[in-house]
Amino acid sequence: MRIANLNHRLVLIREDRAVDVERASGGRFGADPQAVYADWDAFRDWAASAELPEGEPFALTDLHSPAPAPRQTLAIGLNYRDHASESGFEAPEGLPPVFTKFVTSLSGPVTEVRLPEGGKTDWEVELVAVIGRRAEHVAEADAWSHVAGLAVGQDISERVSQLAGPAPQFSLGKSYPGFAPVGPWLTTPDEVENPDDLELRATVNGEEVQKGRTGDLIFSVPALVSKLSAVLPLLPGDLIFTGTPAGVGLGRDPQRWLHEGDVLVSTISGLGELRQTFTA
Ligand code: ZN
Repeated sequence: MRIANLNHRLVLIREDRAVDVERASGGRFGADPQAVYADWDAFRDWAASAELPEGEPFALTDLHSPAPAPRQTLAIGLNYRDHASESGFEAPEGLPPVFTKFVTSLSGPVTEVRLPEGGKTDWEVELVAVIGRRAEHVAEADAWSHVAGLAVGQDISERVSQLAGPAPQFSLGKSYPGFAPVGPWLTTPDEVENPDDLELRATVNGEEVQKGRTGDLIFSVPALVSKLSAVLPLLPGDLIFTGTPAGVGLGRDPQRWLHEGDVLVSTISGLGELRQTFTA
């Protein structure tokens, strides 16, 4: 199953058409894309058995984040060995480094993003997991049952503010408006062949800059749900940005940043792609 946020209404994606959930369910499920996660099990059962209309064609530019107002977004740093190494850090053990992307930075899959003046803006393609069932002290073996689905994410990062100050603080420089595109839709884990090993790619103006596999995550999606939920409850509709593989601009020699007019495309096999165009 694939669901999306089409002009702020919850839709099911079927091939290249969108079915409005509130209308198709006769009001059983509302139009608010964020509200569905609180009733996820019932929604999934309904969607699996409902007789659905054909739906309407839609434009990718009318999609917004499939979870537009999570109560919590947990973003993971240094979760691939090659990226930890290019960033000049040891790979984490025990607990991963965690920061947030504030909720106002969330956006849809096809957007224009304004570059902060005087900044050094960088790309980080990431797998995003959306929580579908409250998770508290969840064992790794049970973790996938707490995940509603997966999407492509970009952890766009402005490195000057990210690395300013006497102690590292990541959240602010990663939370400019539009710095957290997610989408193009939410795909349930059963729709992909192996949700534990998906290929991620990022290109800038067509040139490949990142390529990795989620099978190389130091903390897999189940490990993250388990370790994070041992500290705090994960709530339905929460997002986890799972970290980025090597190839970011910060780790290059010479370093490389995004400029006005650049087009960043982020792809994950089976989940779709994001397309961000940068403006001054
Ligand atoms: Zn990141």
